[in-house]
This record gives sequence, structure tokens and C-alpha cells, in this order.
Amino acid sequence: MDLIQAAYVAVAILFIVGLKRMAHPTTAKSGIVWAGLGMALAVLATFFWPGMENFALILLALLVGSVVAWWAAVKVAMTDMPQMVAIYNGMGGGAAATIAAVELLKGAFAGNPGLMTLAILGGLIGSVAFTGSLVAFAKLQGLLRARPILFPGQRVLNALALLLALVLGFSLLLNDAPLSIALFFLLALLFGVLMTLPIGGGDMPVAISFYNAFTGVAVGFEGFAIGNAALMVAGTLVGAAGTLLTVLMARAMNRSVWSVLVGGFGVEQEGGEVKGSLKPIEVEDAAVMLAYAGKVAFVPGYGMALSQAQHKVKEIADLLEARGVDVKFAIHPVAGRMPGHMNVLLAEAGVDYDKLKDLEEINPEFPTADVAVVIGANDVVNPTARRPGSPLYGMPILDVDKAKNVIVIKRGQGKGFAGVENELFYAENTRMLYGDAQKVLAELTQALKKL
Ligand code: NDP
Repeated sequence: MDLIQAAYVAVAILFIVGLKRMAHPTTAKSGIVWAGLGMALAVLATFFWPGMENFALILLALLVGSVVAWWAAVKVAMTDMPQMVAIYNGMGGGAAATIAAVELLKGAFAGNPGLMTLAILGGLIGSVAFTGSLVAFAKLQGLLRARPILFPGQRVLNALALLLALVLGFSLLLNDAPLSIALFFLLALLFGVLMTLPIGGGDMPVAISFYNAFTGVAVGFEGFAIGNAALMVAGTLVGAAGTLLTVLMARAMNRSVWSVLVGGFGVEQEGGEVKGSLKPIEVEDAAVMLAYAGKVAFVPGYGMALSQAQHKVKEIADLLEARGVDVKFAIHPVAGRMPGHMNVLLAEAGVDYDKLKDLEEINPEFPTADVAVVIGANDVVNPTARRPGSPLYGMPILDVDKAKNVIVIKRGQGKGFAGVENELFYAENTRMLYGDAQKVLAELTQALKKL
């Protein structure tokens, strides 16, 4: 047993080193390897836990899980990463809830109300994280409508479901009959679904990181309940990191965590009609505009990720810099479909980190930029976010409309994730360069080389 505990201490160290290394893009990949080693050691050590049996079943579960995870990780497109994070998150919550359910059904906490309370709370939180993450996955995958799903009396029903789950949960301290346990878990699972339905697609980043934190807390509670140090450490780390991420994401969208979780954003009427017309521009004219500019800001968004155009963006940036143009990249915290999405893609393409400017840094620079090139971004540059009544109201945006000239690269009239019309595209200083980002940028590169 001492050896197992020693192994768990090593696991904790590996997790912490991994997490620390994940904090910077240059060391992030190795951080994942460190944390992965920690997880492998935790699983291995658990095989030696006293009283452990059913090895064949455990190995079978490990095999099935590993094959599915390996296959999914190899196959997943970068653009589908948030769904993947959501579903794996949910699995963690589900696993914690399952531990709670099995231990409660075994009567493992008889005569120990403290540990039983922890197990019940972990079970509740894990169940909510499980079904909540599944609904988030379905929304991001397009299996469910991304906009808030609302119905009359929803908030009252949600509050009642939570209250009932709590009452049933604590009643288990007095009567832990299997039927009561099953009912408690059913209600907790139902509450996870109900809680996530009214959360709009645009607010999903906050919801996903919230469930991430929930999963961590649930795992931590179960670790304390069954006395497993590895679960305690892993759960506490995930819970703390997830909570920080939730707060940061909510701040980036200028929402309170509470208002996101209560839901309903993205359903208000849009304020006012969009004035002006869409004015297209030819590739050659866009190339001239860029070649003779003093300062250019590239503004990447989800469309760049979808089209995998990051290498082409880097090529153009290099060409412009060779001509003496001051080039910067404006990175919105929720551009794309996962935190840090644009940073990861541009870093992969070899863009220097010091050229990636976040919102606060780049916004004061737009008025002095000769050209802002929007590459498949929409919501994060939508000036309607400044107007009360807009579903995007309150979300800080990149002030692209303040640049002297704006070129928007997108395929057609497609709206952004929030489904809101974008008045930037109709502005006097905006020109639309239609087409798939990678293809358009390749043409733009050719045109630039000829100048
Ligand atoms: P948006 O989703 O708002 O807009 C993307 C735009 O890209 C569309 O208007 C589309 O227009 C265009 N596009 C799509 N494919 C291509 C292509 N191949 N070539 C060129 N353009 C293309 O992206 P943003 O990055 O501006 O905003 C992100 C949104 O996603 C925010 O609302 C955010 O809240 C949300 N979100 C963010 C998450 C995160 O963690 N970052 C997670 C989940 C949601 P068209 O069809 O005309 O080409």
C-alpha cells in the first residue's frame, strides 16, 4: 500500500509539472506528455490496490477506451476540438458519478455521514457535468440547435429539479435504499440537461470550462470519499484550473458566469437595421492596397481554422514585412472554437509570438492601421456588440471598423456563430474579398509577388 501511495505522489508531481508546462505554447506539447505519463502511472498503480479484482473486465474497458480515444484523436479536425473537449470532460464527470453510485449501492459509507456527504455531492456534480457536457457536445456538433432552447417556466423547473436532487441526495443519509439512490442520480442527470439547454452556442466556451471545473470537483470529492490520493490530486488540479479558465472565458466575453449558466443569451431582438451595401474587391486591388500600406493588422477567426489558411497568412505576412510593412496579428480570446485556437494555428505556421497581439493591446492600434484584413472572423469583429439589444451586446470586440481600410475574406453571406448580421461588412471603409480563405490568400500571394 505504501508503494501505491508513493506512486500516487509521483503522479501528483507529474500532473503539476505537466500543467505548468502547458501554460506556455512552446512547452505545451511536452506538458501533455508529462501529464499523460502521470495518468499511465496512476492507472498502473491502481492495479495493485488491495482487494482489486475483475482484472479481465478492467483490461477490456481500458482496451475499448484507448482504441476509441486513439481513433477519435487521430481523426478529429482542429475545428471540432471543442466538441471533443466537451465529451471527454463529460466522461470524467460520468466516471466520478459512477464511482459514487457504485460505492453508495455497496453501502460503503454506512456509519460515516461525512464521507457519504462527499460521495453524494461528487455524484451530483459529476452527473451534472456528464449530461451537461453531452448537451454542449450536441449543440457544438449541430445535433441540437446552437441557440438557447427556451420554454415557459424553465427557470422555475430548473430550480425545482436542482432542489429536489439536493433533497433526495441528502435524504440518502437517512435512507440509502437502491431505489432512492437511482432516483437521485436520474434527477441529477436530468438537471445537467435542463441546465445546458438554455445556454446559447456563443456562450458555450464558458459552459464547457465550467463543466470542466465541475468534473474536477466531482473527481476530487470521490477521491476523498474513497481515500484515493490520485483522484484527490487530479480532481483538485482540474477543479482549480477549470475554475480559473471559466472566470477568464467569462471575462473575455464580458459576461458573469452566473448569467451564462442561467442562460438565455442570444435570443433578444437584434437592434436596428443594417445600413449600407456589401462592396466587393478584386484580388489585384486588395494586393495593391496591402503592398503600399504602412501598417497591416491580420484578424483571424473560425473561417481561417476551417480553411486551414494559417500557412498562407504567414506567407503573406512575410512578403509584406519584406516590403517594410508593419504587420501584426489581432487575436480575440474567443476567436475560433476553443480557447487559444488562433494562437495554436498561427504558432504552428511559424508566426512569432510577439506579433500576436491580444484585444487590449491591438485595439488602440486599429485607428492607425492602413488595412485590417479579416480572415474568416465574424462575431469577434461585429460592432453590433456595442449596441444594447444585440445578442452579442457586452462582448468586447476587436475594433476593426476603426481601421482606415478593412478587407474581409469570407466565402459568402454566412453569419457568425451567434447568427447575428455584421454591420462591419456594410461599412464605408470595408471591402469584401469573397472565397475560401486558403484559396483567396494563395491568389493574393501571387498578386503581391507580381507587384
Ligand atoms: P464566427 O464563427 O463568428 O465566423 C466565422 C466566419 O468565417 C463565418 O462568417 C464564415 O462566413 C467564415 N468562413 C467559414 N468558412 C470559411 C472559409 N473556408 N474561408 C473563409 N471564410 C470562412 O468566427 P469568429 O472566430 O469571429 O467567432 C467565434 C465565435 O465562436 C464566437 O461567437 C465565440 O463565442 C464562439 N465560440 C468560441 C469558442 C472558443 O472557445 N473560441 C468555442 C465555442 C464557440 P462564410 O460562411 O460566408 O464564409
